[in-house]
Amino acid sequence: MNVEAPIRAPRGIKDILPPDAARFETVLKEAEAILALGGFQKVLLPMFESTSLFARSIGGATDIVEKEMYTFLDKGGDQYSLRPEGTASLLRAAIEHRLVDPSRVIRLAYSGPMFRHERPQAGRLRQFTQIGAEVLGPLTPSDDVDLLSLLHRMAIDFALPSWSLLLNSLGCPLCRPAYRESLVSFLLAHSGSLCETCHRRTAQNPLRVLDCKVPSCQETLERAPRITEHLCPKSRDHFEEVKRGLDALDIPYVLSHRLVRGLDYYTETTFEFVSDALGAQSTWAAGGRYDGLTAELGGPDVPGIGFAAGIERLWLLREKAGTLPAPERHPVRILVFSMDAKGNGAALDLVRKLRKEGIPASGHFSGGKIKSAFRQAERDGALFLAILGEDELRQETVQIKNLTTGEQKAWPLNDAKTIADRIRTEGTSSIPLSTRQET
Ligand code: ATP
Ligand code: MG
Repeated sequence: MNVEAPIRAPRGIKDILPPDAARFETVLKEAEAILALGGFQKVLLPMFESTSLFARSIGGATDIVEKEMYTFLDKGGDQYSLRPEGTASLLRAAIEHRLVDPSRVIRLAYSGPMFRHERPQAGRLRQFTQIGAEVLGPLTPSDDVDLLSLLHRMAIDFALPSWSLLLNSLGCPLCRPAYRESLVSFLLAHSGSLCETCHRRTAQNPLRVLDCKVPSCQETLERAPRITEHLCPKSRDHFEEVKRGLDALDIPYVLSHRLVRGLDYYTETTFEFVSDALGAQSTWAAGGRYDGLTAELGGPDVPGIGFAAGIERLWLLREKAGTLPAPERHPVRILVFSMDAKGNGAALDLVRKLRKEGIPASGHFSGGKIKSAFRQAERDGALFLAILGEDELRQETVQIKNLTTGEQKAWPLNDAKTIADRIRTEGTSSIPLSTRQET
């Protein structure tokens, strides 16, 4: 016989199994609830878009577009990419459906899987989940402060360990060219102490050099000209107002002049929320202003600001903080056991009726020995076991055992409603050991 090796998940992909899946969803739902508090409305976006959308928004000379996208030709010969992030899609949709309005501010949120062909490591997956939010319209620096304040709320509510907010300004198209020039002069003058990637980026996308993680490069780059010292008056005022707003709300931040982000569309305020508890991949949320992007994508020329947070990283931090509710197994509340094939019909009928009454129920059909039913119930975390043997079928009854107290009693088989009521009252007052011991 030709036995083939089992197929495994692609590299960098994480299966989230029970009971983790429920915990993951709690993290996502609670983050979404905070965005709803901030007045954001949810948009459901497609998972792939025309490749050109990402090239145009994120930028052709970024890591994401250059080497991280999952790009394919469909059967019609059109080129698409799995979305590596959400902002481009959200803006595309908002523009396409005319939601962007220069006279009013809109707040939209999204969540879901993103795809990037990166080197998998702790905290870095090839499919990961982001929750994100975008504010579009006639914005003021106070809108920047308000978005940061909402993320601050998230950090507090989730009791995230040792987090901080890193803040920078990337200026605007008026002040950036001059800064870029003085940065390039510095980089060329110091090219001897910079790595290969820095050399390549100096030519293609010099601001990205500041982001280099090589320690010797970082040492050199500490002395590079700082963008916040080259801002035009308008950008300087903007940044000052954001900082004043944060100070007034007592939101702590750390000025981080090398924070440039990996996407080309950012302007003015840029930020990252990091935590020491995450190890090397320390950022759990990041974003900033992107004032030219809606116009770049063919929409009205309105400012925008947004962020994206990584749900897997938030999950990890919340596990560390211990702020996630105990793992819930959604236990099958009752397992209906038919000892042999003759009882299967009655078991199927009882299971169906109990579910109609809102009681989670499953069947253990033609189950043989009673011991196997107990084992199955234990594994399911069931609170009750219903037993249908030959005697019960003859008497049209069912034995119902409370697995916590051990108490057992016969009930009329046709009275699912009373059985359901009893399960409800008894079931809420007792939690079986098998679920309590679950880690
Ligand atoms: P990094 O510097 O970590 O590569 P980035 O600049 O590529 O981050 P963004 O595109 O701003 O990150 O994504 C926002 C957030 O999404 C990150 O802060 C992180 O929490 C999460 N994230 C990004 N890429 C990954 C990934 N490959 N795996 C898990 N989470 C990720
Ligand atoms: Mg990245």
